[in-house]
Amino acid sequence: MSKTDFGFLKKYALIVAGVVFALVSLSFIWFSHNKQRLIYNSLYTVAKALRESDNINDYRKFAEDFRDVRVTVLDGHGNVLADNQARSVSMDNHANRPEFVKAQSENYGGDTRKSETTGKQTVYVMVKLKNGTYIRLAQSAGLSYEFILWLFAPIAFLCFCIAVLIFVLIKNKQVERMRQEFVANVSHELKTPLTSIKGFAELTATGLVTNVESVRGYQEKIVFQSDRLLATINDILLLSKLESTKPKALKEVDTRSVADQVKEALKLLADEKDIIIQISGEGTVMAEPEPIYHLIYNLTDNGIKYGHGGGFVKVTLNGQKITVADDGMGIPEKDVERVFERFYRVDKSRSAERGGTGLGLAIVKHTVQKYGGTVSIKSVVGGGTEVFVEFGR
Ligand code: ADP
Repeated sequence: MSKTDFGFLKKYALIVAGVVFALVSLSFIWFSHNKQRLIYNSLYTVAKALRESDNINDYRKFAEDFRDVRVTVLDGHGNVLADNQARSVSMDNHANRPEFVKAQSENYGGDTRKSETTGKQTVYVMVKLKNGTYIRLAQSAGLSYEFILWLFAPIAFLCFCIAVLIFVLIKNKQVERMRQEFVANVSHELKTPLTSIKGFAELTATGLVTNVESVRGYQEKIVFQSDRLLATINDILLLSKLESTKPKALKEVDTRSVADQVKEALKLLADEKDIIIQISGEGTVMAEPEPIYHLIYNLTDNGIKYGHGGGFVKVTLNGQKITVADDGMGIPEKDVERVFERFYRVDKSRSAERGGTGLGLAIVKHTVQKYGGTVSIKSVVGGGTEVFVEFGR
């Protein structure tokens, strides 16, 4: 399979980054606004209680109870008389502060700004007591770690969603690419024998070839290519059935009896090459009988196709294990991983001349996957091939 093009992800990454940035910015604005409003409300409630009790001692009690609230006491001219977090003597006159100006006319005043003393964004509430003293309550509305904590949960969730989305997109892209490749391969695989059939048929139809032997030769070629075409179509249908249907009505399939049927079906082919098919052992697997038949058939057929005259194909059954071994030409190491891919052949012309479709091992792999098993190959060039299948692992 060719490499997947991830260029399309750039576009999605930019959109996602933009959405995340906008969400974080909006969340920040909403969060800071909300926090300031909450602080203002609680300071205002305390300020109201202070004005109603009209008792300066309450300020001291308040200062003790709420250490994170800064309390400043001012006279009617805005001079600082006391402050629980700063030295009052070093503090400027507050007469022109917005909260003081407002409290002078309306008894209460509020403002939110960066504090000159602490350097932090701060909410101020000023109350004018009935005795003419002013008390200013101030609390920092800095967000930093609270905001990060508050954002962490949705951001983590968002990241998770993005990761899932990217995974699904990549998977879809890969599936789409594999489908395109498969369609291109299928077209090619069908076109090749069909072109030959058409060519030979046209040649004999012209009537120019009068030699009976030659005509028979062309007709044999037409039959061979037709068989090849049919075999390819059958394998494509088998593969698509394996992929599109879920395993149902599983039953104990007697692998020994299936292997015996396969031996019978391949007897002629084996005899032609003087290859002996040996079957030993017993076994059962939980599956559907037809796919198991095709699995054993394809492996045995390969053993014959790629075996040499006078050789053997051994099918060994052991519980849920099926092993098919031959003493044929073997598979080069670099190809072993790829032979399960659809239409992958080590030697294209050799496979074609032996009637191979390039789908035999892909069918084996899909069957094994469908019934929860594993398949692996051990092969030595010139020394033979062993295919190990194990179900129920
Ligand atoms: P094909 O129809 O071409 O045999 P398969 O999917 O069955 O397709 O096998 C893929 C390729 O793996 C074959 O073309 C062949 O090159 C190689 N192969 C499979 N089985 C054997 C084997 N027993 N011995 C040697 N080569 C094999």
